[in-house]
Parts: sequence; C-alpha cells; structure tokens
Amino acid sequence: MARSTGTPHIRVPCPLPGCGWAEKHAERTQARPTDTEAATITAVCLHHGPYEATITPTTGAYLDLATLYRNLVKELALSSPRGTLRVMVKGGDWVFGSHLVDEALQAIGLTRAQLPARLFCPQIVTDTGAKLSKSLIREGRAPLPDGAADWMLDTRQWPGSLPEYAHQLLALTETLLADPRHFFRSYSAAEIGRMMAAPAPRSVPAA
Ligand SMILES: [Zn+2]
Repeated sequence: MARSTGTPHIRVPCPLPGCGWAEKHAERTQARPTDTEAATITAVCLHHGPYEATITPTTGAYLDLATLYRNLVKELALSSPRGTLRVMVKGGDWVFGSHLVDEALQAIGLTRAQLPARLFCPQIVTDTGAKLSKSLIREGRAPLPDGAADWMLDTRQWPGSLPEYAHQLLALTETLLADPRHFFRSYSAAEIGRMMAAPAPRSVPAA
C-alpha cells in the first residue's frame, strides 16, 4: 500500500487545542492493534512532543488515511459475507490503484469472490491527457485548460436553462452507456463540451 517508501501514510493530528499538527510522511507514527477492533496510534508533535490516539470502529480521534487506505477501509466494510452484491463506482484513473487494494484485501484473508465488484467510469482529461482536476483548478493551482468550460466545474455557470442542462446531460449519459466502446475510454474536456452542445435526438419533438 506504500510501495515507494514502505511507510504507509497514517496520520492523527496533535490533540492539543489550536495545534492539529500531523506528520505528512508518518516518519514517527506507529500503529499497533490493541484488540481485534481497536488500534493505538502514537506520533510526535514537533511543538508538543509524543501523543497517542486510540481508534475503534465507533470512537476515537480523527484518522487521516491516504487515498489507497481509505478505499481499502471502504471496500473492506462492504465485503459482506451475506450474499449482497456490492459495486464500487470509480473513475477510470483508479484502475491501477485498485490492484493494490485487491492485494491488501487478499493479504487480510479475503478471497477474490469476496471482493466488491467495481465499475470504472470514463475519465475526463485535458488536451495533454492529464485528468481534469476540478479541485486543483478551483484552488487556483491549475489553469482552466483549453477546451474546458466554467460549467464543467460549477454547473451554475451553464449558459442555458436548467432543464436544458439536465436534458443534455441525460443524452450524453445515454451515448456513453450505449456501447462498451463508448464507456471504457477517456474523453477530453473539449469533447465533453461538444457532446453537451450537440442537439440530442430526443430533443426534437415527435410531432
Ligand atoms: Zn501539537
């Protein structure tokens, strides 16, 4: 789960009021199980020294986990033995990460049949092929790339009416779901813009 360093990123913030410091790379963080459903995390605050937190399924301190770990916890919580088919719906950029989650779930003792099914949705990418990161653009850490439009980040910026937006979105979804070749691939933001602007067949009145 942490192949580059071997140190998984588990963080608990310093509990002293107004501090909240947490180690980014977990160099001095230790986790040890205290019983089958609880763990004690110890860490060292640069300002206040050593501290610890006990985490159980229902109580305990805030536990900050890297994305891979959060997904491991989610999928483990969903691996019900009672015959319910659970489906994880993820973006296509998660395909590679899910291999690591699979390995971790199997290391815990789950068999392949117990792993939740996963549905990978089309990824929207920029003109360079990078993921269109809405959070990075909103935080001002990346520019709005060529072909992307304001309404892709904030639907209130859609230039037309709300019913028209809903209608176009539904038509786009039907196009993507119409054929596996349409679904299991990526789309540039510009192409999504073109598809949303295209007149949808069902928008033509029958009479
Ligand atoms: Zn502190």
